Amino acid sequence: MKINRLCIIGVGLIGGSLARSLKRAGACGEIVGFGRNSENLETAVRLGVIDRYEDDMAEAVKGVDIVVLAVPVGSMQKMFELLQPHVTEQMVITDVGSTKGSVIAAAQTVFGAIPANLVPGHPIAGTEKSGVEAALDDLYQDRRVILTPVEQTAPDALVAVRSMWEAAGAVVEEMGVEHHDEVLAATSHLPHVLAFALVDALAKLDEKAEVFRYAAGGFRDFTRIASSDPTMWTDICMANDKAIAHALQHFSATLQELSEAIANDDREKMFTIFQRAKVARDGFCEALNYAKE
Ligand code: NAP
Repeated sequence: MKINRLCIIGVGLIGGSLARSLKRAGACGEIVGFGRNSENLETAVRLGVIDRYEDDMAEAVKGVDIVVLAVPVGSMQKMFELLQPHVTEQMVITDVGSTKGSVIAAAQTVFGAIPANLVPGHPIAGTEKSGVEAALDDLYQDRRVILTPVEQTAPDALVAVRSMWEAAGAVVEEMGVEHHDEVLAATSHLPHVLAFALVDALAKLDEKAEVFRYAAGGFRDFTRIASSDPTMWTDICMANDKAIAHALQHFSATLQELSEAIANDDREKMFTIFQRAKVARDGFCEALNYAKE
């Protein structure tokens, strides 16, 4: 299904990569951008990511088939407020936010009920980079996109958003909203929190110059995601606080167990934890066809 006109609100890494992917696939007629500042949007036009941009939401969404909200999750409600007076029956609305309960709650607040033409979504792809300059035309190739339709979601709208992501190269799955937020708290939000915490803890050490000078591959691998955008991650932690707190509690119990094993020279305990983790990681790398490095 070809999209005649698409509007991306927040043309950064995720929105820009969607635009690039759809252009590469020849799946979209025109892509219009909307954002806070024209400087970023001018760059997006110059790079060929979008065809044009508008400063006014009414103009940006005029005649579009699909509107994609690709701003940080803490800004979704404000964008829904700007969008609300211009929504038409034909318009499908979707988003790419990393948390889904908060986006649905924001829509409910603004629209009074969850609109039938809203299809919440989350691409499980990204990098630690931000901004339109980092957008890639193959970011979603063979990557998963989770859609979290609710009872009210119109089947036609769901089909349109599924087709859009498939055209971008993604494999689309559906999941319940709560389940999405719990699973992503454990698999994405917790590792980001740990990476930020590790780097912050090391940066506070007096001898930090020494610490970072001798940091090698393991440190780089573990901490790459601590270069992610602080606004985006503050928003995610605010939006999915309960599930993240629960995942942190679960993690803390294992960390405590390991700390005690190290303090008590409990070799068997340490080995058991490391072995269990290695078997689990090797298993999922194989299942998902990931490289182990
Ligand atoms: P990004 O590169 O920073 O792009 C976000 C864009 O939204 C910016 O280019 C900016 O465009 C606009 N924006 C930024 N802050 C805003 C604010 N406070 N209010 C309104 N607009 C703002 O971020 P991203 O990585 O694409 O993330 C966008 C969304 O995708 C987030 O909801 C995030 O949770 C989700 N997501 C990210 C990843 C990832 O790995 N990065 C993966 C999956 C989902 P203007 O300057 O033109 O306004």
